[in-house]
Amino acid sequence: MKTQGLCICHERKIIIVDLLKLPEWADSSEYVRKEGEKEILRHEILHAFFAECGLWGSSLSVCAWALNEEMVDWFAVNAPKIYRAYQEAGAM
Ligand SMILES: [Zn+2]
Repeated sequence: MKTQGLCICHERKIIIVDLLKLPEWADSSEYVRKEGEKEILRHEILHAFFAECGLWGSSLSVCAWALNEEMVDWFAVNAPKIYRAYQEAGAM
């Protein structure tokens, strides 16, 4: 996913672009844009989690895995499914 959000970890701040202002989202329905914003937010929250738990800095010595965009996207896309699976399995 192209970065459309920003996690400013040292300030504990997340900024998300207004998807309505991006040409590639202009023809999307409000529902689709909201779902896109939620996915971007989950992506940035995961960056924040990595930063808060100390993995952000630690990742620099092992190929920056916690900064890897594909891995963070994987979590952002799959986190709701993982959460539901945890609930259905009684793991929450
Ligand atoms: Zn990212």
